[in-house]
Amino acid sequence: MAYDRTNIFARILRGELPAKKIYEDEYALAFHDIRPLAPVHGLVIPKGEYVSFHDFAAKAAPAELAGFFRAVGKAAKLLGVTDDGFRLLVNNGADAHQEVPHFHVHIFGGKSLGPMLPRSGD
Ligand code: AMP
Repeated sequence: MAYDRTNIFARILRGELPAKKIYEDEYALAFHDIRPLAPVHGLVIPKGEYVSFHDFAAKAAPAELAGFFRAVGKAAKLLGVTDDGFRLLVNNGADAHQEVPHFHVHIFGGKSLGPMLPRSGD
């Protein structure tokens, strides 16, 4: 799948759309999700053009991979969830219902989050 430069997160990176920033460096931007699913719900995106986690894992340079995951840790710390715990989630592709075609990691926290997923049949 080719990268679509008109996607919402690309527009946030270019400053065309606003975002409530948590953290930014040369590799990543972290901001609050516009429709939070937990008391704390952050998003971290790489600055490079990657459609999905799989695309990022396959193509990003080692410095981008390291810089990105370091930024996820920094964002979690700034969100204040590292002591009580937090969950990282990545939706990749159709079965995972990925909505925005620019790789992103969700950071959830601020309450006890329950099981990872409903059990099959629930
Ligand atoms: P996903 O289903 O993993 O692709 O998640 C996309 C996420 O982006 C959802 O949780 C949306 O609420 C969030 N989102 C969509 N538009 C914006 C926006 N303009 N600013 C912040 N978060 C957004």
